[in-house]
Amino acid sequence: MSDNLDLSTVLAAVQDDNGGSMTPPIVQSSLFSFDSYDDLEKRMRGESNKTFYTRVQNPTVAAFEGLMAQAEQGEAAVGFASGMAAISSTLFAFLKPGDRVACVEHVYPDTYRLMERILRPFGVEVEYYPPETLENDATLYDGLKIAYLESPSSVIFQPLDLTRVAAHARKSGTITMIDNSWASPVFQQPLTLGIDIVIHSASKYISGHSDTVAGVVVSSDEHIKTIRDLSLSLFGGKLAPFEAFLLTRGLRTLHARMMQHQATANLFVDRLAAIPHVRKINSPGPNEVPGLTGRAGLLSFEFDDSVDIRRFTDALKHFKIGVSWGGFESLVLPAPVVLAQAAENNSLQKFGASPNLVRFNLGLENAEDLWADFQSALTKSTV
Ligand SMILES: *Cc1c(COP(=O)(O)O)cnc(C)c1O
Repeated sequence: MSDNLDLSTVLAAVQDDNGGSMTPPIVQSSLFSFDSYDDLEKRMRGESNKTFYTRVQNPTVAAFEGLMAQAEQGEAAVGFASGMAAISSTLFAFLKPGDRVACVEHVYPDTYRLMERILRPFGVEVEYYPPETLENDATLYDGLKIAYLESPSSVIFQPLDLTRVAAHARKSGTITMIDNSWASPVFQQPLTLGIDIVIHSASKYISGHSDTVAGVVVSSDEHIKTIRDLSLSLFGGKLAPFEAFLLTRGLRTLHARMMQHQATANLFVDRLAAIPHVRKINSPGPNEVPGLTGRAGLLSFEFDDSVDIRRFTDALKHFKIGVSWGGFESLVLPAPVVLAQAAENNSLQKFGASPNLVRFNLGLENAEDLWADFQSALTKSTV
């Protein structure tokens, strides 16, 4: 990355070689032909890196990958069809039966299912730890293949000191991976804190417009080459050119959107703290752990027992009821509904979450309009 440029400037950079176009062309081609026998032979021998098949490489996807690598201050990036494709493909690029994985508790529910329903039967040992243990217990890293992290974790948003985890992992040769979807590179750049591999569900803040499902991984040239050659190529969960185009478009406004999400989240956190019916607010902010520089718009809080969460949810007007997050629109997700999912697949049940918990995705609407909506719904739902 160019020295000392703010991330907003980096994300606005126009890629060269497109005849003056501000945007990357959408290259909707499955294959790319070779000029000659020699040209083809060089590629097959691995002596050239020429783009030849869209399952492995594509120019529109490469434009997005290049911008993502700069955003996270990594050497390279690889796009995927979804966040889960990115997570599963990254884990499978490095794991073999008999390996041990340490995973943070309250991990994204489908990542928990991946660990329990696919990795464990495949012969990988998976252990879960709260943030304090991952930060303080150096012995758990002995012989550990992968530390799988989220900071903050899902739904209860517990942050983790990534510098401490990275220091333990380095000593043991453990590979560290983090799902950085919540913070985005605007608020946290884990590679600069010593983490090896950053993963995003690009469906969230990177897209920002609730119109794309995608994933991306950023790391060293060496790790990205391994992931691209093995699990991208062989599982085939590639990012499509049109989706990559939309994600590049999303990155252009990522910084400005995160600032707006943060301003609204700050307003909510200040005012929620003064509401007697609110017991606990989960919303990590700047410097709560080293390297975290902002507060994202995805947060949760607990009501006391006097609030009827069903009535509260239905009384909201500007918050749509739904999963996912990171888009322009505000959303509400009541935890009791998530807790109702089958226990064997449910990380929230496994690691505990209050049935009084409500998750908000604060979108780009006017903060006072959203707050007025919250207050009005609360008035209608206290018993
Ligand atoms: C949504 C999400 C994922 C999964 O991403 P998809 O793009 O839906 O596959 C992974 N991690 C976190 C934290 C998420 O919120």
